[in-house]
Amino acid sequence: MKNYGDDVFSEKAILKHMPKAVAAKLIATMREGTPLDPSIADEVAHGMKDWAVENGATHFTHWFQPMTGGTAEKHDAFLEPSGPAQAVLRFSGKNLIGGETDASSFPSGGLRSTFEARGYTAWDPTSPAFIKRHENGATLCIPTAFCSYNGAALDMKTPLLRSIQAVSRATERLMKKFRKPKAHVSITLGAEQEYFLIDREFYLKRPDLLQTGRTVFGAAPAKHQQLDDHYFGSIRPRILKFMTEVEERLWRLGIPAKTRHNEVAPAQFELAPMFEDLNLAVDHNMLIMEVLKQTAEASGLVCLLHEKPFEGVNGSGKHCNWSIAYGGKNLLSPGDNPRDNAIFLTFLSAIIRAVDLHSDILRMSTAGAGNDHRLGANEAPPAIISIFLGDELTSVMKEIETGHAERKTGRTAMKIGVDALPPIPRDATDRNRTSPFAFTGNKFEFRAPGSSQNCAESQTVLNTIVAESIDAICDKLDALVGNDATRFNEELQKLLQRLIRKHKRVLFSGDGYGSAWPKEAAKRGLPNLRNTLEAIAPLEDPVNKKLFAKYGVLTEGEMASRHEIALADYRSRVLIEGKVALEIARSMIRPVVADEFSRLATAIGRATRDGLKVGIAGLKALSMKLGAGLDDLHVKCERIEKAVAKGEPTAIIKQMEDLRRTVDRLEGLVDDGKWPLPKYRSMLFIY
Ligand code: ADP
Ligand code: MG
Repeated sequence: MKNYGDDVFSEKAILKHMPKAVAAKLIATMREGTPLDPSIADEVAHGMKDWAVENGATHFTHWFQPMTGGTAEKHDAFLEPSGPAQAVLRFSGKNLIGGETDASSFPSGGLRSTFEARGYTAWDPTSPAFIKRHENGATLCIPTAFCSYNGAALDMKTPLLRSIQAVSRATERLMKKFRKPKAHVSITLGAEQEYFLIDREFYLKRPDLLQTGRTVFGAAPAKHQQLDDHYFGSIRPRILKFMTEVEERLWRLGIPAKTRHNEVAPAQFELAPMFEDLNLAVDHNMLIMEVLKQTAEASGLVCLLHEKPFEGVNGSGKHCNWSIAYGGKNLLSPGDNPRDNAIFLTFLSAIIRAVDLHSDILRMSTAGAGNDHRLGANEAPPAIISIFLGDELTSVMKEIETGHAERKTGRTAMKIGVDALPPIPRDATDRNRTSPFAFTGNKFEFRAPGSSQNCAESQTVLNTIVAESIDAICDKLDALVGNDATRFNEELQKLLQRLIRKHKRVLFSGDGYGSAWPKEAAKRGLPNLRNTLEAIAPLEDPVNKKLFAKYGVLTEGEMASRHEIALADYRSRVLIEGKVALEIARSMIRPVVADEFSRLATAIGRATRDGLKVGIAGLKALSMKLGAGLDDLHVKCERIEKAVAKGEPTAIIKQMEDLRRTVDRLEGLVDDGKWPLPKYRSMLFIY
């Protein structure tokens, strides 16, 4: 680990490359998020350039996260001509702080009028600059926000930063009520990244994987994940080599990659970093995805980040572990100090209230064409958002709600500010993998986000709804307690009791995969937004628009633009899939089936002519099946063609599924050597 953080403009590098006073100001900005003194921008830029050049960089770029879901960069050389055939390397404070770029090809959802095509990038000093290396050099990357001329957010980072501010302010307000001295709030994220790896040779022969990231055809192999023999299994040498290369690159970038293991599905893996400050963790997750893809390519592999590359085996998620720390202390860690239980239980109740009241918009944050194949399928958390607390905490909440003792150990019911919380066993809390939003001992794990998604989306929503909830509790406390501090604990106890009563419907510890849950959830009035079209509708709900505007996270216009972009993205993806499926079925599958059929027909004719006594029945039976399949294929291609022409996503999805059944059946009938697509049993097992 000797190169850890070498490619980051870290505090150590800053101190080395800048005058002391300038370095101190910059470091304060990075740590506390205080505004940067503009007068030092030139000196900061100068130091940053020196460091970058020392490390082989020739170019710099503002690195941002447009609403495409990926990252964007446009490189400029440090080069500045200084005379005939002479040049110097230059990088100014102006270059560092802001950039102007042609935004017309990035999705803006109507936020950028056509005459104002420019987009502006603005330096985010809270995420350190870093260097991306390539075979012939390196580029200095400066994390930035991206917005339109009039300041509307065109990216994922801007609303994320705004939401961090909102929840931080609310947390400070609540902590003041607990008479805690002012301290820095940090929101933390540890994002577990799942992915598939397949050999590049197979990938190149699958137009569906190449174009859509998932297989639109492919019959389930006899053996896939039934034996549970892949999960945590010993890692194959080729994969381990890949993983160590990924880690080496990530460590250079100061990304604390910590855990690696085989996942449930064959050829599926996971990488988990240590948690970090949310904004940095989001940037780091974007880099993790990039490094995974690039390293795979260099190893003759392909990394698939799609939520459901293979039907019938587990899909990939991105479990977002989220918490709030105050002065470095985790507020979601129950601790054993009885007097602190009030803080823990109040935050817990605030989160329960937030998720119950706003589960629709939280579900929205996980919507997307890829994740539709995963959420609600029987290995992923369902599209119904509920909270799992684990036995111990559930009992504690019940005691507060009813005022009666629930746990065998305690003789009286839990008293806010007086009793110690029971130790929350991590193991017990982590068992329920079917819950989309689970308390796992000292943090919440949001499991619904998809493997390819930018975590910023779900985290922005989570922060905002929790900020609103904390504020609502503060407002109530203001009204109930007033200036009489002696009543604080008692009033808080009553308030939490009411909150639990009102919002406990969102708590669910049963089997989220079971068929009984959707019915039960409907009875409880919990929304079940089954696909992207349903899930993005909450962006248009005036209640949500008001909420996000109130917290300064997204204006009504920005909400509307996000709806428009999500819808367009969904439609485009489904349409592309439909076209790819049709193309493969017509130009790859059909010719092979037709050949096979005509070969059989010829053989049957010849055998009959030659008066053979055996084999004809078998040939005839097979040709009947192939012939029927061929007819079926024809009809289904016509249908999907019509659906594609209309551009109707729901119809395209239905026809694609229908066509898939036919193609997958034919896969089992046609000569194995002639089937044009690599099969699941090869792709998932040969690497
Ligand atoms: P598991 O693998 O069982 O889900 P881990 O303890 O390995 O649980 O943690 C998973 C992720 O949660 C890691 O990225 C870890 O750093 C992160 N995590 C742990 N504590 C916190 C916290 N306070 N805030 C945010 N994430 C956390
Ligand atoms: Mg895990």
